Amino acid sequence: GFQLSSKDYAEYIKLAAAKIHENGDYVTALDSATGDGDHWSNINMGFEKLVEAIPELEAMNLFDEFKKIGMIMMSVIGGSSGVLYGSAYIGAAKVLKNRDIIENQDMCNILEAMLEAIMARGNAQPGFKTMIDSLHPAVECYKDCIAKGLSEKKTLSLVKSAAVDGAQSTAAMEAVRGRACYQSNKGIGHLDPGAVTMSYQIETLMDYIAA
Ligand code: ADP
Ligand code: MG
Ligand code: MG
Repeated sequence: GFQLSSKDYAEYIKLAAAKIHENGDYVTALDSATGDGDHWSNINMGFEKLVEAIPELEAMNLFDEFKKIGMIMMSVIGGSSGVLYGSAYIGAAKVLKNRDIIENQDMCNILEAMLEAIMARGNAQPGFKTMIDSLHPAVECYKDCIAKGLSEKKTLSLVKSAAVDGAQSTAAMEAVRGRACYQSNKGIGHLDPGAVTMSYQIETLMDYIAA
């Protein structure tokens, strides 16, 4: 099975930063359609700071690394998403308390802890047209794959698809949280930008682990 060290996770951060960086115009257009247009610049700035912190991050144990990522995201990203990602990483750090490596079940636990932290902090549920609508199906899929005893390769590929499909599913949703709920049609017909950038991160992580 796969095993990720804190150095490996820092390598993933670099790849996620690149994925976010190259989708600037697209994500900015999404947040301009239903929000205030800053989501990409917020999250991109956060990932740039994370990349600068890689020498420090990769030398830490996983618990400290995740806490530090959360603190950087909370202070640099700003907006609604900064607080939510900060809470997600600080929540996920707790499941890594006594772990030196991330294995398949740990990865599932990490994503579930992130989901719970985001839902609690944002007082939001699946179906509210937010980043949760990419993360929640990914977590459900991950748990299901483990329960069915699927291979890790198959699991990683299905979790990635669940995250990407989940982000796409936000187009049909009426916003209950986030700025899209102030639009007269509640953002129907538009993708939620936060769900799209969440899917970029999950997709990059699953591809990185599978590679
Ligand atoms: P802001 O809306 O403050 O400008 P961003 O543009 O950075 O912040 O982030 C917007 C994204 O944050 C939305 O697309 C949505 O996915 C997510 N979001 C907003 N509010 C919530 C919430 N209460 N719960 C979960 N996600 C949320
Ligand atoms: Mg915004
Ligand atoms: Mg804003």
